[in-house]
Amino acid sequence: MGYEINISKDKLILVSSSANVFYPLRLLRRHLLLNLGGGRVGLNSPIFVKNHRSLTSHISHLKSNSYFAPMQFKDIVGQAAIKQRLMNSVNENRVSHAQLFLGPEGSGSLALAVAYAQYLSCEDKQPEDSCGVCSSCRKYQKLMHPDLHFSYPFFAKHKDDTSLTFIEQWREAFIAHPYLSLDIWRDYLDAENKQANINIAECHQIIKKLSLKPFESTYKVLILWLPEYLDKEGNALLKIIEEPQPNTLFLLVAQNQDQILNTILSRTQLIKIPSLGYNEVKDHLVEKYNQTEDAAAQIAYLSNGNLTDALIMLQQDTKGYHKLFVDWLRLCFGNKGLEILPFVDQLAKMGRENQKNFLRYGVSFIRECCLLMAGAGNLVHLPAQELETAQKMTNVMNIPQAQAISAELEKTHYHVERNANPKILFLDVSLQIIKILKFKTIPQGTQYIPN
Ligand SMILES: [Zn+2]
Repeated sequence: MGYEINISKDKLILVSSSANVFYPLRLLRRHLLLNLGGGRVGLNSPIFVKNHRSLTSHISHLKSNSYFAPMQFKDIVGQAAIKQRLMNSVNENRVSHAQLFLGPEGSGSLALAVAYAQYLSCEDKQPEDSCGVCSSCRKYQKLMHPDLHFSYPFFAKHKDDTSLTFIEQWREAFIAHPYLSLDIWRDYLDAENKQANINIAECHQIIKKLSLKPFESTYKVLILWLPEYLDKEGNALLKIIEEPQPNTLFLLVAQNQDQILNTILSRTQLIKIPSLGYNEVKDHLVEKYNQTEDAAAQIAYLSNGNLTDALIMLQQDTKGYHKLFVDWLRLCFGNKGLEILPFVDQLAKMGRENQKNFLRYGVSFIRECCLLMAGAGNLVHLPAQELETAQKMTNVMNIPQAQAISAELEKTHYHVERNANPKILFLDVSLQIIKILKFKTIPQGTQYIPN
């Protein structure tokens, strides 16, 4: 749901992209009651509600040429043991026909599946990798090999839509973002807020594709990204998983084991892919993206082993977060209502991804403050200047307050992700932080969104 609220001299305009305006209206009412409109708007101010379908926010994604597109094992960060295991299975001729690559977002599981398929199909396999130059490899690098098929969640406009309908967007998205996430993919599909899934038409398409003989390679490969989105239609695929055509390989690439149909889970060979380590992310940012040690360390720390997140953060100015965050806490501690409003405007204009990273920075910073307060300073990762501020913060805040602030920041992150109005959100969280820091009131339960 997207909506926007403009506070002008004496009226409020609420522009909502969906029919449901009750949620933003409820928030609005709450702010009017708290009367933080700088005295310009009050309980009797008129509220104009407009519907506007085209108001959605977009992730600003990177252009193709700024991404490194790994199709070979050597281009994929870390995961040495998995790569070796996959190559061994090919060289020892024991490729299981249905495999489930299970790894968290940003671990490289999709890229690994593609590199594995490329290796399997390569006409001149090297001990460490596919050759990268044979006719098969060259077709793989463009994702245009006739024996390579993809299936993925999409937002069907017609009931007959299948993955093939979106294959151009898919190639573009994966080549630009081998560490693709559903969020980034959604952006390529211009999907607004529709529900992604893999429909029954697509399941029939998969069965059809897998029943054909390979054209050029020994193997025909189908990579199904995010089988979590199969719903029960996925049961149509059981027969083909159980009794495959000879020389077909079915690779499922998933993030959440709990959300996969058990019937599918029990029929596939599981390959668990761990998230990347702090140093793997950091070194990659230094080597491939020319980041300084400090900048790379900060992003690696915030990304928590998720390279997809790390690469998005790279595009944003994470260096300014510390000052911004501390300034915000100072304003809240001083209960400076009039100064907070322009500050909130500034935060609201940052854009969704930037806001999420800023909030994530806040949560990490508060966590470091907690470590200091708990006497575990030796575990703190902060650069010198930030450490100094964190030490000062511990004089004005105790652990329950820090935890309460952290919880508020996490809630805000959740709502930013779901397209809530940033002005209202940041104003609301500012009020909560004022209450916590200045008036030492710890919020109880879920009063954040009033009913
Ligand atoms: Zn090759």
